[in-house]
Amino acid sequence: MQPTYVTRLENVPQLSRDERNQLKAVLERFAFRATDYYLSLIDWNDPADPLRRLILPSVDEIEPWGEADPSHEADFTVAPGLEHKYGPTALLLASRVCAGCCRYCFRKRIFVNENAEVPGDLGVAFAYIREHAEITNVLMTGGDPLLLSTAKLDGIISELRKIEHVQIIRIGTKVPAFNPFRVLNDPTLADMLGKFSTPEKRIYIVSHFDHPRELTDPAIEAMNRLLAAGTRAVNQTPIIRGVNDDADVLAELFKKLSFIGVPPYYVFQCRPTWGNKTYAVPIEEAYLIFERARAKGSGLAKRARFVMSHATGKIEIIGISSKHIYLKYHSSPHPRHKGRFMVFCRNPEAFWLEDFGAPEDDLFLDDMAIPELPDDMDPEGSQLTPYPPPFVWPL
Ligand code: SF4
Repeated sequence: MQPTYVTRLENVPQLSRDERNQLKAVLERFAFRATDYYLSLIDWNDPADPLRRLILPSVDEIEPWGEADPSHEADFTVAPGLEHKYGPTALLLASRVCAGCCRYCFRKRIFVNENAEVPGDLGVAFAYIREHAEITNVLMTGGDPLLLSTAKLDGIISELRKIEHVQIIRIGTKVPAFNPFRVLNDPTLADMLGKFSTPEKRIYIVSHFDHPRELTDPAIEAMNRLLAAGTRAVNQTPIIRGVNDDADVLAELFKKLSFIGVPPYYVFQCRPTWGNKTYAVPIEEAYLIFERARAKGSGLAKRARFVMSHATGKIEIIGISSKHIYLKYHSSPHPRHKGRFMVFCRNPEAFWLEDFGAPEDDLFLDDMAIPELPDDMDPEGSQLTPYPPPFVWPL
């Protein structure tokens, strides 16, 4: 199969004229793009079909909400097409196109006509990476790097591989979901990636499957080709209203991914981006969906962490109690925040960190002392005084 790209709703015959007319205002603001392959996966008898919701515009997108760049990526842009927020990791915007436009995309600003964040020439970006020996990871994203021609992608990865300190190259992609035939019809793509994925320095495919129905036979075969060529793979997904905001659906996705050797990695809180109100799930609800899904899987299916890509860093949502929610910085550009643990009063309507207000309690990693053995403890063990007294959990 050779999928074709659909960028006009007139070419989606399953939509009525009325539906197309209602969506005109949305398309004036946000791009639409899909493959006929992906559209063929939709159950057109179900108006709430999750894949339909993921790819077809919704009139609710015109509701004012959010920002163009909610994680303030512009503040960390150090060269055209290059963001450097966390010491070891640089993010290279290598492509302006994706094989489809996810409606909830948090980088949809890139698809706006006048946006020039993705440069034609990455020379300055390569020079910056070369000069920063702390960069051991480069994440290529965009836009989708696998939509570049194999020759162009080969050229970019070759340049990165010339830089001794760059060890891991990650390729963020939804091509295996939107158009697995990009991989299946061009064997030179997997071969080229395999060539650069050496035992010492791997290429990681960071796939973006949101729903288990995206894991079709061709999608699984595409992932298998990439893995068989020598790459490694993990999966990321946000929790999106109407797509995967259901513990059973998410559990099924985690399970299937672990079965095919693509363990779940990050699960994201939906960023408060333009037009995304309809797709966002409040943090506490999303956390409970995530935990319930994880509880249903085996160890490999529950490797994911639920995180929020906030302007101040990547924040993991680690738990909820009856009154509080517990968050921890996973990464931060600010050294003081690294490992910081925070306790907030619960707010079931919070969509982003600021919605919780000030922390009730917090602990900076640097301020935490490692407890010393009390004087009355004998390290040899013969006179060991239990401290604290043992607690027997009720069974
Ligand atoms: S694949 Fe990623 S960058 Fe592309 S439209 Fe979807 S969310 Fe946005």
